[in-house]
Amino acid sequence: MKISDIGEFGLIDRISRDTIINPKNILLGIGDDCAAYYVSPDKIALITCDMLVENVHFTLSTCSPRQLGKKSLAVNISDIAAMGGIPRHALLSLGASSDASVEFIDQLAEGIKEEARLFEVNVIGGDTVRSPLGLVINITLIGEVELDLVVKRSTAKPGDLIMVTGELGGSAAGLTLLLEGEKYFSIPLNIAEKVKSAHLSPVPRIKEGRIIAREKIATSMIDISDGIASDLTRICEASAVGAKIYASEVPIFPEVKEVGRLIKKDPLALALYGGEDYELLFTVSPEKADNIIKLIKKELDTKVSIIGEIRDKQESIKIEDLKGRVVDLQPKGYNHFRR
Ligand code: ADP
Ligand code: MG
Repeated sequence: MKISDIGEFGLIDRISRDTIINPKNILLGIGDDCAAYYVSPDKIALITCDMLVENVHFTLSTCSPRQLGKKSLAVNISDIAAMGGIPRHALLSLGASSDASVEFIDQLAEGIKEEARLFEVNVIGGDTVRSPLGLVINITLIGEVELDLVVKRSTAKPGDLIMVTGELGGSAAGLTLLLEGEKYFSIPLNIAEKVKSAHLSPVPRIKEGRIIAREKIATSMIDISDGIASDLTRICEASAVGAKIYASEVPIFPEVKEVGRLIKKDPLALALYGGEDYELLFTVSPEKADNIIKLIKKELDTKVSIIGEIRDKQESIKIEDLKGRVVDLQPKGYNHFRR
């Protein structure tokens, strides 16, 4: 059997068997945005890592080293946001070819430090190795959260509303322009810049995550790294529930309507399956929804939308499309080994 037969998630399932030898102090092992363990009876440490590989996650022709460094820390910060936590300390592991330019690595490190300053994260260690096949960046990020505020993936309940911060699809549209830019010279520069920047410079939703945690209203949360379709499926699987979302309610990044027409991609598909938007997808009981929308709008001026509701597991995961037809929401999105 090959890895491509089971895909990324099948592979993680196999790895995750028998991994907790000493459960003392462990709150969460494999299966959430971060691992979590008790550092005191009411304080939880969060740990996450994300690896970026040249020509898989990025190509050096479409981003500057500074942007790449900044984003590689941002995607980890986003996983801390998804638990309602605060990022604290990072370790940076780098693999690079002997021919890579020192100035390039300087700029990459500068990007990481810029993001670290923005979110008050210390870089406290790492590892450096030779990588003949290109650049590899792995950041491990440690954060913390109060025990009574931590938000998991596994606790969504039927009847909860499904909510999302911000607007989706910008990153996937931006990536298309970055990769095939010269084909789309008719797209106005300011519009192209908006979606490219959504892809290159995502802003992790730490402040939104903290409000959601502080208000103790979320029954589950995940950050959208692979697209809502895939990430909602992860919440549903972890919580043993189903879901129904409404295509008409999915907030689409404003510029994506125009860009989608020009690149001949459906804006809704970019929003559902595109990924890398790094917004927060979370669930709340219906009576709490309006209040959190108002609060996040007032404190941060961030839009929050209700896109559907959690259902019983037997109802599986459905989407009501723009014509009112209810169909299965395919969990397609980014999956290593199965593109
Ligand atoms: P995210 O998109 O939030 O970073 P992933 O989909 O990458 O999460 O991973 C899902 C879960 O599987 C996480 O809890 C992660 O820590 C775990 N995981 C992924 N790869 C491995 C691995 N090689 N060994 C152990 N755990 C892993
Ligand atoms: Mg995540």
